[in-house]
Amino acid sequence: MTSLNKICSKKGCNEQAVYKYSGTRFYCPKHYRFTQMRHQAKTRNKYKPSFEELERLLIECGPEMQCTNCHRIMIWHGQSRKLDGVISLQHNNNGSIQFLCFGCNSAHGNSQLGDKYFDLKNNEKYCADCKTILNKNQFYKNNRSRDKLKWICKACHKKRECKRRFLKNENNLYF
Ligand SMILES: [Zn+2]
Ligand SMILES: [Zn+2]
Ligand SMILES: [Zn+2]
Repeated sequence: MTSLNKICSKKGCNEQAVYKYSGTRFYCPKHYRFTQMRHQAKTRNKYKPSFEELERLLIECGPEMQCTNCHRIMIWHGQSRKLDGVISLQHNNNGSIQFLCFGCNSAHGNSQLGDKYFDLKNNEKYCADCKTILNKNQFYKNNRSRDKLKWICKACHKKRECKRRFLKNENNLYF
């Protein structure tokens, strides 16, 4: 991160600017991220909070800026592939907003559970196939996924495997 030798363009902020937002606007890490969040909310047709609201949400994360779901310490910006800990704005189905780490935010989206995602216990995962919340030991491992587990449970996986084999055998019989 190089310093631009400028002060953040946000009124009342005296931090060093480290990001150029436009020809005339330069922001500190926080105000740059807030600006991104507001811009994203607008382009996705979601509620666009004011800077003041975002400041208030930040207080809920405590002095160490912890994710409101997994409590990991969040950062303002990540390096290319390390986005998991970056602070992001979550729009809940009930209309409320909160800060989550990027990892929790995308897991929430992928879970298809909506706000119920936050009630999941540490050892639980939602199977999108049988639409049930199950213990994580009901899922096979998958090193390529974010949570290192397959996206459907063992039972659903077996069912799909059987069907696949059956169809394959049928194809062999008739064609
Ligand atoms: Zn600033
Ligand atoms: Zn988190
Ligand atoms: Zn299942």
